[in-house]
Amino acid sequence: MTLRLYYTDSFLYEFDAGVREVVSGARPAVILDQTAFYPTSGGQVFDTGWIDANGDKLRVIEVAEDEQGSILHYLDAAPNLAPGTRVHGTIDAARRRDHMQQHSGQHVLSAAFVRLFAMPTVSFHMGEECCTIDLQARSLAPAQLEEAGRLANRVVTDDRPVEVRFASLEEARALGVRKLPEAQRDRLRLIDIRDFDLTACGGTHVCSTGQIGPILLRKTENVRQGVRVEFVCGERAIATAQRDYATLVESAAAFSAHISDVPQQVRRAQAELKAAQKTQQKLLEELAELSAAHLVAAALCHPERSEGPAFRLITKVFSDRDAAFVKLLAQKVADAGPAVALLASTSGPVSLVFCQTPGLPFNMGELLKQTLAAAGGRGGGARDFAQGSLPDATQVDPALRQALSSIAP
Ligand SMILES: [Zn+2]
Repeated sequence: MTLRLYYTDSFLYEFDAGVREVVSGARPAVILDQTAFYPTSGGQVFDTGWIDANGDKLRVIEVAEDEQGSILHYLDAAPNLAPGTRVHGTIDAARRRDHMQQHSGQHVLSAAFVRLFAMPTVSFHMGEECCTIDLQARSLAPAQLEEAGRLANRVVTDDRPVEVRFASLEEARALGVRKLPEAQRDRLRLIDIRDFDLTACGGTHVCSTGQIGPILLRKTENVRQGVRVEFVCGERAIATAQRDYATLVESAAAFSAHISDVPQQVRRAQAELKAAQKTQQKLLEELAELSAAHLVAAALCHPERSEGPAFRLITKVFSDRDAAFVKLLAQKVADAGPAVALLASTSGPVSLVFCQTPGLPFNMGELLKQTLAAAGGRGGGARDFAQGSLPDATQVDPALRQALSSIAP
């Protein structure tokens, strides 16, 4: 077992220790007789920092605990160390302070949800950007979130002492601890936020709630085990609020509006966009209809041979119209028929649309399949309408020529 110096002093950023074991391999690590480095556990992520040994500064990139209770300090390179060497450890203090703010803030927040709404916390996650707790609850109203945030921040401004206590399981039960660990332990470490919360925890915590700084509650989300609440504390809360504000200012500038008018401006822009799309669709329909009439009128009549019904055959490649318009146009041509339309669009993905007036004797689906098989494209369809795509535009003319020859040999 490594002696955990952080258990009794969260603000110990430097310490001396002896090397107990050196782990070689793909992930070199060192085990010390004592450490102030916190290993990932209980929702709190690991510390990083440096270990000085014989003038060498080794970078600690991750810290984890093994099943025997030893703490492994993973290093960015294999160390030149032997058991017994004296080393000096330095914790990345800014990262540790941030973790203390998030973790102590979580205790305050979890206690607030219990006190106000009897919603226990079932899990805690500390991420790079934000933290979350999962509450055992069916739902959480916005007003409840606001109330919990108000209480938690009042506990911060109360600047209540936060103390570490050790107790047996029986003692902890008698004290009315909010959360007991699942694993059986003889001696429990309790975090006591005076007259507000007492909970078993192995994490690093602030000395008084004022050190947590602001607690900013963000979104909530329903998850399998209850309701997930996203939050950030301390300097992270300030940085997050500043980032959110900058986003809002940028959005407001795009509308030349005040930030409080952004939601209204967004709604108006959405409505205008919807109306414009509707108008555009209507105009495209009209354009397709006119173009179809034009194409049909200019097309030659087939067949000259006696058998089969007469129809007009239209084939055209559009480099400035997308597949959706070409599809619309093909349908309009068929409506204005009897006609067969073999159309292509090379604006965007190269696509083919084959369409005939119902009642004509061809099979567009089959025709397209044969055409695509030769050119290596994909697609399909039914008797009167089919569409597909080709890998590149150079294949369009040969493909259409091939299709044309089977309709009008
Ligand atoms: Zn904790």
